[in-house]
Parts: sequence; structure tokens; C-alpha cells
Amino acid sequence: MLFAIIIMFYREKRLALTNKRLFVFALFSCLVALVFDILSLVCIYYATYAGFSPLITRIVCKLYIMLLVCQGYCGFLYASSSIFRGRRYNKVSVFYFVAFLCGVTGIAVSPIYYFQEGRIAYSSGLATSFAYGMASFFILSTIAISLIFRKEISHRRFTALLAWQAIWLLAAAVQLFNPELLLVGFAAAFGMVILYSQLENPNEYIDRQTGLFTRNAFTAYITDLFNHEKAFSCLCVRAVYLSQETDVDVQNDVLMRSVGALKRIGKDPVFRIGDESFCVIYKNAEELKNKMKAMEEIVRGVTDVPAKAAFIVIRDNTIFQDPEELLKFIRIHEDSDRSIVEADEIHIDRMRHDKEVWSIIDAALAEDRVEVFYQPFYTVEKKIFTAAEALVRIRNQDGTLVPPGDFIPVAERNGQIIPLGIRVFEKVCQFLATGRAQAIGLENIEINISAAQFDLRNPHQFVTKYMQKYQIKPEWINLEITETASNDVRQNLLLNMNKLIAKGVSFSLDDFGTGRSNLDYFVTMPVQNVKFDYKFTQGYFRNEKIRHVMKGMIAIFDNLGLKVVSEGVETKEQLNTMVELGVQYIQGFYFSKPIPEEEFLSFLREKNIGA
Ligand code: C2E
Ligand code: MG
Ligand code: MG
Repeated sequence: MLFAIIIMFYREKRLALTNKRLFVFALFSCLVALVFDILSLVCIYYATYAGFSPLITRIVCKLYIMLLVCQGYCGFLYASSSIFRGRRYNKVSVFYFVAFLCGVTGIAVSPIYYFQEGRIAYSSGLATSFAYGMASFFILSTIAISLIFRKEISHRRFTALLAWQAIWLLAAAVQLFNPELLLVGFAAAFGMVILYSQLENPNEYIDRQTGLFTRNAFTAYITDLFNHEKAFSCLCVRAVYLSQETDVDVQNDVLMRSVGALKRIGKDPVFRIGDESFCVIYKNAEELKNKMKAMEEIVRGVTDVPAKAAFIVIRDNTIFQDPEELLKFIRIHEDSDRSIVEADEIHIDRMRHDKEVWSIIDAALAEDRVEVFYQPFYTVEKKIFTAAEALVRIRNQDGTLVPPGDFIPVAERNGQIIPLGIRVFEKVCQFLATGRAQAIGLENIEINISAAQFDLRNPHQFVTKYMQKYQIKPEWINLEITETASNDVRQNLLLNMNKLIAKGVSFSLDDFGTGRSNLDYFVTMPVQNVKFDYKFTQGYFRNEKIRHVMKGMIAIFDNLGLKVVSEGVETKEQLNTMVELGVQYIQGFYFSKPIPEEEFLSFLREKNIGA
């Protein structure tokens, strides 16, 4: 078994990981222990029956039991290297190294006896008991740290370590009472098989298509370097195809040629971290500069199709707190459109800020501190407030409010917009289900939907699900969408919008008049309303050109049968102007800021029915 593992292990290329080195240590101590196990039996046999030297026999027996202790020690080192980091690891290693030395010295100075009768042969005496004691100490320590720090390691590592050590301990216990069974050596070898197959199989770290190291290997390698406080630089490069229709065969060809060139660039380990992205780790930052040039050439040189290289440059890993932060940085930027993203303070601060906001949103969702405020719209024709916009807020534990501008963009980036959007939608449905607002003139509520919310496979379903659950009439709901640059996202959005429109839900185009809107958008999007952004409305009063644009747009929307909502009306003059221009709905601080539910109901009661 051991030889098979050794052959398989050495046939594949490996990363210089601490774990791998310690595995080799454990593997060879197991092999040598087995050799001495057999040798000691041979010596005992010949010493008993053929007058072989008792001194050498005792020495061989002692060496064997020392190797047993060594195996226990190696096991502990192996497990602790993935649990403890930095100084803590060093402290633990020193303590256990001293224990190991004590164990070996104890065995060396204690008496040992051997015994042979028929097929039964074993050694005994203080040295043997001491060896069993020390080996058990190491095994129990390994089991203890695996159990205590199980959160620090993966479940797979945890079970493999426990199985390995438990089999060993069991075998030792059985052998203690049945010395003729000779189970320990077998159990140790079997343990190595478990370790190899579960944790150390190099195949798992090799990408079959390219022969480069995998993304998992990258994570393990980075973590290892961080744990041992080794500084490094990291360069990620991705081939970006400039033409959308690149043939799969051409892509494969480009891939293999890029890989060949990357391998030729130097001896540093190359990882394939995505379909077309690779990472190289350097031991010093100076190398980065030259390599980047060389890589740019490669990407240009190997492609027959138009392509460019996109880089993520990490000059110094110590800018990151831990490997997770570094990996996250790569994850965030690996699809970036920019040709070079450099890990600098600005990028990292933003990432940390996002992480902070992530926990704020997460806690708010868990503790039900997500609130919906309502901002009424004045309906010019009816001269009352028949609609409102639902605007999300997070209530801090101290009662203060976090405005959406502080967390919506982050939620859109990290996917939290999905649960957050669902929560807002459900709260609005709950409010509408009471019928209280409808009783005093409210006709519908507009809810903001980020494009990312219609990004899942069947994303519109949350809308219909809650509408059914709370018996919401489709005409009570209007969804506000904004323009999105990406064609894919737009197609998805359109698909979902049409499904909801078929169920009677209507849509508004939000933020019109900001940099994010163009003519094509409202022509293709099946919206009923267009909302002039706060900046657009305010611009009317400050800028001659905007005045002309707005007048023209209102005429166009009128012809298209679209209704206009003017956001950001703050004064009576602004209100009058918008009414004169023919805007159908007015939203703004002139009437009301976004307000909580009860306040909103009082507002409607007072303004709509004079109560
Ligand atoms: P928006 O959808 O364009 O919402 C209008 C924003 O303009 C609101 O800011 C509102 O308070 C503000 N506003 C309205 N009238 C005036 C005015 O007269 N003067 C000024 N200075 N501002 C006015 P808010 O509530 O801070 O929301 C900001 C943005 O956050 C929203 O812009 C919307 O894009 C997003 N948002 C809010 N709630 C949600 C939500 O539930 N889901 C999603 N996806 N986005 C939301
Ligand atoms: Mg809006
Ligand atoms: Mg808006």
C-alpha cells in the first residue's frame, strides 16, 4: 500500500505546501517504522533460536518503538499545520518537539526485553510502555486539536484526520492486549491510504486539461504562504476575447498555446483559476514587472482572434489581512473590464467597506430591521395622492436609519439585493393587504427593482408568489426599473417583465435623465411610466438646454402614451412649472419626504379626505 502511494504521489507534480512536506514525513516515517517492525521480529527470532546478538536485537527493537513515537509526532505536526498559524504554530511545534525528544530519550535510556514463543514475538519493558504512552499522547493530542478546532478545518480534513488517528489508536489498544496480532503497522499504513485518498491526492490539484495547478491548489498554496508569514507577489492574467463569436476550437487552441507559453516563462507555479484566467505566484515583487510584459506579449502572440490581456496585480500580499481577503479580491476583480487592476489601499478599503455593509444588511435581514418608507405622489389630474414609492431603509440597533444609497449598491454587487428585494416586496404586500391605504385614495405603490433581482432562473416568481399569498391585485403594484448597460441582463429583464405584464403588473422606467438612460431603452422596454430623475427635474430650473430637452421629451412621451412622474420637486414654483409642462405625477420633498407607514397613512387621510 505504501509503495503504491509513494509511486502515485511522486509521479504527479506537486506544490511546495507545508502539508505536503509533512505528509511525506509521515509517509516515510510509516515506511521506515514498518521496515523496523519486520526487522525487529526477524532479530527477535534469530536472537532466541540462533544466538543472534541480544544487544543489536534490543537496539533494533528500540529503534522500532522510537519510530512509532515519531509516527505519532508526524501525525500531530501534519494536523497542527492546517490548524495553527504563524506564531501559535511555532509555539505548538516547539512544545511538541521537546515532548518528542523527551520520548526518544526516555526510550533510549529505559530497559527493553523481547519475547518469542512459537509464532508470537514482541518486545516489552519500560521502554515499550513509555513508547506506547508517548505515541498515545501524540495521537490523543491530534484527535483533541482536530475536535477543538474543527471549525478551522474543512469537514473533509476533519473526518480524514479523525479516521486516521482513531484507526491507529484502536489498533494499538487491540495489540496491547493481543501482542501476537501486530496490527499497528497495518493500521498506520491504512491510515496513510486514507490521508492520501482524502487529502493529499495530487490529482485534485492538477487541472486535467492544461496540466496546471487548479484553483483549489491556488487557495491551498496562498493559505499556506500566509500561515507561514511568507511574502509573495501574485499576478493574474486573463485572455479577453474582443469578438463575441469565438469558435470553441479556436478558444481551446488559444488556451493550450497560452498555457505552453506561461509554462515557458519561468519556474514559478502557474494556476488555472478560471476558464481563461491564470495566476502566477512570485517570491518577490521585482519579478512581476518583467513577467507582466512577457505575458502581454504571450496573450497577443498566441491569439489569432482579437484578444487582450486583463491583469490583476498584487505586488505585496501583506497588504491583505488574510488569504480569504486576497482570494476575495481576485474573485471580485477577475471579470473586471479593466486591463489592469492593482491591489492598492483604495481597492482594499472599498472591499472592506463592502464587507462591513454586507454584515449590516445580513443582520438587518435576520433581525427584521429592514423597513419600508413611503413617499407619496401627487396626481395632477385628480388633485390628490393616489400613488407612492416604497423606499427601503435599514434601522440600526440604536434607532438611527441607514439610507438606501449606503447599502443598495453594495447589495447589488454582492447578491444581497435578492433577499433584500424580496423582503421589501413582501412588506409592501403586507401593507397593501390591510387595504387601509386604498380606503383613503391610494391606487398603487411603486417598488424599485434592481436588474440583478431579475437575474435568477425564474426570478419573477417572487413577485407572483407574494401577490398570491397576500391577495394583491396586480393594478396595486408598479415596478420601477432602471436602465442596465449589459445586453444579457436586459434580455433577462425583458423576459421577466413580459411574464409579469401578462399577469397585469405594470412598470416604470426610473432615473430618466441621468447618464443611465437613452432613447433606445424606453423604446424597447414595455413601461407605462417614465420617472424624471431628481437631477433632471432640478436641472430644468438651472440649465437652458435641459429645459428644451425636457419639453421635447414630455411631448414624445405623450405621443407614446407614457405617463411622466417628476421626482425631486421641492418648491411651489417647481410644482407649478411641472404641472404646466403636462407632467402627470409629482413626487418630491415639497409634498413629503419618504415617511414610515403610519405617518404615510395620516398624510393620505389629511390630504385626500381632509380627515
Ligand atoms: P429612486 O428610486 O430614484 O428614489 C427616489 C429618491 O429620491 C429617494 O431617495 C427619495 O428620497 C429621493 N427624493 C425624492 N424626492 C426628493 C426631493 O424632492 N429632493 C431630494 N433631494 N431627494 C428626493 P432614497 O430613498 O434615498 O433612495 C435612493 C435610491 O435607492 C432610490 O432612488 C432607489 O434607486 C434605491 N432604492 C430605494 N429603495 C429601494 C428598494 O427597495 N430596492 C431597490 N432595488 N432600490 C431601492
Ligand atoms: Mg425609484
Ligand atoms: Mg428615481
